[in-house]
Amino acid sequence: MMAAWLDRSLPEWFSRRLRRRIVATFLGLLLAVQALSFLATRESVARNARSQIAQELQLGERVFRRLLGQNAQKLSDGATLLAADYGFRSAVATKDAETIGSVLLNHGERIGASIALLLDTDFTLRAAAQQEATALMPAVHRLAERSASGMSQRPASEIVTLGGHAYQLVMVPLRAPLVIGWVVMGFDMGPALVRDLREITALHASLLVRPDDPGAWRLGASTLAQDLAVALTTVDWGPDAAAAQQASLMIEGEDFSARSFVLNPDDGGSVRAVLMRSVDEAVAPYRQLQLVMALITVLGVGVFAASSVFTARHITTPVRALVRAAERLGQGDYHSPVQVSSPDEIGELAQAFERMRVNVDAQQREITRLAYWDSLTGLPNRAQFRVSASQALAEVRRPPMPMNGERRVGSTGHVSVLMLDMDRFKHVNDVMGYEIGDRVLQQVAQRLGRVCVRQGDLVARLSGDEFAVLLPATDTHDALRVAERVAAAFEAPLVLEDQTIDLRASIGVATSPDHAQDADTLLSRAEVAMYAAKRRGAGALAYDPAFDSGSARTISLLSALRRAIDGGELRLVLQPKVALRTARVEGAEALVRWQHPQRGLVPPMEFIPFAEQTGFIRTLTAWILDECLRTWRALHAQGRAVPLSVNLSTRDLMDVELPHKFAALLQRHGAPAEALCLEITESAIMDDPTRAQQTLERLHEMGLRLAIDDFGTGYSSLAYLKRLPVHELKIDKSFVMQMERDSDDAKIVRSTIDLAHNLGLSVVAEGVETASHWRALRSLDCDLAQGYLVARPLPAAELPAWIERWTEHDARVLLESPTTVL
Ligand code: C2E
Ligand code: CA
Ligand code: CA
Repeated sequence: MMAAWLDRSLPEWFSRRLRRRIVATFLGLLLAVQALSFLATRESVARNARSQIAQELQLGERVFRRLLGQNAQKLSDGATLLAADYGFRSAVATKDAETIGSVLLNHGERIGASIALLLDTDFTLRAAAQQEATALMPAVHRLAERSASGMSQRPASEIVTLGGHAYQLVMVPLRAPLVIGWVVMGFDMGPALVRDLREITALHASLLVRPDDPGAWRLGASTLAQDLAVALTTVDWGPDAAAAQQASLMIEGEDFSARSFVLNPDDGGSVRAVLMRSVDEAVAPYRQLQLVMALITVLGVGVFAASSVFTARHITTPVRALVRAAERLGQGDYHSPVQVSSPDEIGELAQAFERMRVNVDAQQREITRLAYWDSLTGLPNRAQFRVSASQALAEVRRPPMPMNGERRVGSTGHVSVLMLDMDRFKHVNDVMGYEIGDRVLQQVAQRLGRVCVRQGDLVARLSGDEFAVLLPATDTHDALRVAERVAAAFEAPLVLEDQTIDLRASIGVATSPDHAQDADTLLSRAEVAMYAAKRRGAGALAYDPAFDSGSARTISLLSALRRAIDGGELRLVLQPKVALRTARVEGAEALVRWQHPQRGLVPPMEFIPFAEQTGFIRTLTAWILDECLRTWRALHAQGRAVPLSVNLSTRDLMDVELPHKFAALLQRHGAPAEALCLEITESAIMDDPTRAQQTLERLHEMGLRLAIDDFGTGYSSLAYLKRLPVHELKIDKSFVMQMERDSDDAKIVRSTIDLAHNLGLSVVAEGVETASHWRALRSLDCDLAQGYLVARPLPAAELPAWIERWTEHDARVLLESPTTVL
């Protein structure tokens, strides 16, 4: 379940991750750029505002100083007016200090002065309205110096502190008409001054007073709100330099630029003016702009996010589809097409994927076809046949569905298999070539198809020339009938390119559940039956458990044969070959006999094929050769030596050591190569013609005579045999014995003799049983005769006596009989 979930969500997760990454990257970049430009603007706005404020503050200082000057003028004008006042002058003239004091006070109040002093002409204090007036004397003296020097047009003024207040002092002469003294008036520098400045410059102005030096500042007056203004007294203003100081102040969370300067540097710098401008306030108009910018940014980010999500989706949707397609391919699904239409590289990639899918799909189909179908005949192959057989078996094993009136009848519960093997197909292949062989197989497939046309029957080619037919719902009896029909179908020869090919099939039948429960056993039982049929030359055979015990019999027969050689149960018999024209004994064929202690004489056909099958034939051949050469030496010693013919089987011929073995053998017995003639059947050569030819050539070079045995029963043509280094051709006895009755056989014998002579071969007729055979063969110019008419195979020891008798008597009889023309 987990895996399924993973399978489904993996592409989603992948594409979401990709999309997230694309969106995040672009949004991040946009935000970074926006944030940077926002910060840069803010910074430059703030910097601009500060420098603008700095200029404003500088201007403010100038305005402030001018205001102070104007104030001094105004105060001086008021004081001058007072000094000119008659009452005042006369009061001063009285020299009554107390009166003068009250006059000063009264008149001063009239013009708004808080301090009033009367000085002598030498600037000593004559009278004062305040007790603490003496503290003002240093400042008064500075004023006097400046007035006396007459440095400026403007009236001189001096700023002092008294009782925690700041005062602006002015000094005017008291004339009557000569200068009889000086009047000093001091005005409280209160809120009016700072208010004026604020009105003119829009700056905040504050006055700070320090009554004692060193000591804390106190607030004189300010245009700021009380709490903000008070905070100014705690600021460290540094040394009281004459020059103005510029500073940034943070008060109650508000950012100010401030310019502060001392108003009375000569008087200990106890009065300080602070001009301020709120930076926030100055920046406020720009803030608006920034807000708009921020809004635009937010909007932009939104639009950007949406569009990058869209773009990302545009990319990731086809990518996701591709990922899904790739996973489908990975899971082996090559049927669903890759459907991604995108006009870009992804589209091209999708097309490449699709091409790959189509190719792999085609290959997959081809592989499946090759795996389950035989390409030559178009029939199912062994794998497919096994699957079908298993299915058919599963079908019959399934419990029957009870249906109205339906009953299981007869063979419904059975499944039969026919296994066919073409007899001698290998020779067709070898002699006529693989092309013809292939076409033969195709025709076989067609024939089989025609015979087995029942619904559900399945014909398959298992391998080479091996075919099988699956017959569902068929018992052994019915299967055998089908097998007979198949065998009958093969009785008519195949015709290919004017060549007639006789093919026969050996057929094995096995049925489930009688012989097997599963498909594999069923097939192998059918195969066992097929081999049994082949051995017996029977067309079709049903499986019999006795076939399987063959292996046990094989082992016992093998050991019996071995015992036969070791225990001297084998005998060598010789059958003479005589010349038809002269009746001279030209040679003898060596044949084996088995004198079994219990079974009596066992004919060679009962153990030679078995010995060939098991490979024991080599041991047997070695024994016969040994016996032959021993016999030959004995005959030779009696002056009766004739060449002895020995039968070689396929297995002997395939032995690569064979020429060596012959050489060693001849040497051991001190016999010449001409002592032996080797008889080889056509089929032994045709099993592997190339190898046979090589071996035969080497034997020929050694001087051994070679004969083709049983000529006419195989498929070899004379044209082919011409290439072999043979000396002799033995016409099979079946033709010779039939030639009087069957004109076809007579023709075969006649043309074989003619052709063999044309090729320079001598011809031996086997199975010469009657004198008329003899005469006929002689008239056909056949060279040698071998058969019961001349002699039955006789024990080797009896040959010399037989030769004597034959030459003296029997040969003459034969020679004197008249020839018959066929
Ligand atoms: P083959 O090589 O064709 O041998 C000739 C067979 O024909 C012999 O049968 C012989 O007895 C029989 N025969 C000879 N003349 C006549 C006749 O006039 N009429 C009839 N009806 N038969 C005649 P045999 O000895 O029973 O041998 C049968 C086959 O067994 C041989 O056929 C040969 O293929 C094989 N065979 C026999 N001995 C040996 C052997 O020592 N080595 C090998 N490899 N095969 C052998
Ligand atoms: Ca022979
Ligand atoms: Ca023969």
